[in-house]
Amino acid sequence: MSWLKGCWCYCMLLIAYEAHSADTVTQQKQTISAAFEQLKFQMKSGYELSSLPQLRVIRSQAAHYAQREIVIHTILIEASIRQHFGDYKHSLSMHYEALDMAEQLNNPRIMVKTLLAVIDLELDLERFDHAARYINRVVQIGNSLQSGDELLVHIKLWQARTHLERGSFRQAQHELDLGRKLPLEDKRLSAELLLTEAQVALKLGDYLLSQTLLSEFSAKYMLVADTKAKLNYQLALAASTLQAGMFTEAITLAMTGLDQTFHTRYLEEQSSLQRLLASAFAQVGNYQQAHLYLKRYSLTERALDQQKRNNKVLQLEAQYALAHQQQQVSLLEKDNTLKAQQIVQHRQVLENSKLTQQRWLLIGVLCAAAIVFVYWRWQNIRYTTRLETQVAQRTAELKERNERLQALSFTDSLTGLNNRHYFFSTIDSQINALKPKHDIIFCMIDIDHFKRINDTYGHAAGDLVLQSFADILKQCTRSSDLLVRWGGEEFLLVMPDMSTRDAQEVVERIRQQVERFPFIVNGETVQCTCSIGFAPYPLMTGEFKQASWEQVLELADSGLYLAKEVNRNTWIGLDSVSASEPIDFDYLLKNYKEQVRLGSIVISSSYEGLQVPV
Ligand code: GH3
Ligand code: MG
Ligand code: MG
Repeated sequence: MSWLKGCWCYCMLLIAYEAHSADTVTQQKQTISAAFEQLKFQMKSGYELSSLPQLRVIRSQAAHYAQREIVIHTILIEASIRQHFGDYKHSLSMHYEALDMAEQLNNPRIMVKTLLAVIDLELDLERFDHAARYINRVVQIGNSLQSGDELLVHIKLWQARTHLERGSFRQAQHELDLGRKLPLEDKRLSAELLLTEAQVALKLGDYLLSQTLLSEFSAKYMLVADTKAKLNYQLALAASTLQAGMFTEAITLAMTGLDQTFHTRYLEEQSSLQRLLASAFAQVGNYQQAHLYLKRYSLTERALDQQKRNNKVLQLEAQYALAHQQQQVSLLEKDNTLKAQQIVQHRQVLENSKLTQQRWLLIGVLCAAAIVFVYWRWQNIRYTTRLETQVAQRTAELKERNERLQALSFTDSLTGLNNRHYFFSTIDSQINALKPKHDIIFCMIDIDHFKRINDTYGHAAGDLVLQSFADILKQCTRSSDLLVRWGGEEFLLVMPDMSTRDAQEVVERIRQQVERFPFIVNGETVQCTCSIGFAPYPLMTGEFKQASWEQVLELADSGLYLAKEVNRNTWIGLDSVSASEPIDFDYLLKNYKEQVRLGSIVISSSYEGLQVPV
């Protein structure tokens, strides 16, 4: 019948799956929940391998619609089926998978249910320490459950079972007492609680209490109990009967129980029943039967031992797998650390290369700026140099032009001698440069009767005479002397560092040279003479009174006019002014001839026996 129900459930799921596109998600979820509840109801009678395909379909559907509670339940059910059939390896991994999922859900009820399933397995695997640890966790989580929650009774039951397995019978009894006080409606759970109480009472040797409890179990819960519970009831009843000394009844009860274990996986119960039978047969003196059941007992134990040895292997495998995983985790961590270091190094390298790039960029920019600056400076310097050269050239040109202009402005164009303008520009510096006790001679020279030459031979001929006259003057004077065309046919000769005596020689030489020179005019030779007057500077006109160079020049001119007046072709030089008291210069100049006659003005002349006219 169960397989028919299974098929029906399976069909429901398939229909649900096909209708996926049409129905809403909520409807799908409801359908899956209904299918799961149906399956749980079917499995109440015990562990069935035939339920596995349906379980898996429900699990995949629930996973598809994120119904994680159902997924966890299906995993736990499959894990307990595998546990029952000795597939501890897969059962263990599935239990832990469910535990992981439950931890993520953060639902205390699911967590408690999952942990209790894990505890069941751990006790089965005789890993009592693990079981105790999980019990502690369950108790802690149980504190957060509501006071009326039946899961609290479950927790007490499993606490008691753990104590029972570990040999702490009093503690087991205490936990069961506490459990009994909690509100409870679930009949199967009440039956389990009662049965466990009976087992604990038996362990404590209280067979009367055990029988009472078993009677209560039989009366109330036999109908709801599953195969395992019924077997345990049978075993406990036989054991209590044996403890009560009713051996034949005990044998009958045990035989009935044993019959139920055949072709099942309840090896623990089978072994216990066989040992009980051996013991009971021995008590009644049927040693043959006792020996037979002892033998069977030993075979069952061997099978159980095999199973336990497998458990040991499983534990070792698990330990090995754990160690292997830890090793891999540590390798991965090391690898991660190495990679993190590599990343850091790589980042460092990137940073460094970035810095280097920035540095080079900066250097490049600086170099470019330097090149631009140097080019700009070079252009500036070139431009400035060119400007300076141009300015220097222009300045030099200007200077040259100025010099030329000045030279032109200072030169007489006809004779090439300096003009009056030049004389006035230099005379002061010459006077200042004069050394003490050295005289300058100012000498005025005029061509005699020059007008006649002009008149006779023409103005151009007069010009030629003027040029030749200037040449004669140049030849008769020193390079340090200053020759000036004073105007018309009149010349000024300034002779520094010269005494009146030496001046007399010079003017005489000039007079003679001119007199003797054959001036060629229009192919004819013309004779010319000149008159000269000179005076020395400085000149004392009486004690403490010195004449200025302008006054000295006028005195020289006065000498010239006196020479013209006397004879022409004559020179008259002023030697000194001999006065006992200072003489007013204007007076001296106006009364020149009179003063010469009086001897106040001392003169010398080329004209012998000079008589100063009145
Ligand atoms: P004296 O003996 O008294 O000096 O008589 P003089 O004729 O030389 O003097 P005067 O002052 O009477 O005449 C000077 C003449 O010189 C008048 C003028 O025409 C002439 N003269 C002046 N400058 C120049 C010149 O540059 N060239 C020529 N050819 N004649 C000039
Ligand atoms: Mg003249
Ligand atoms: Mg003249």
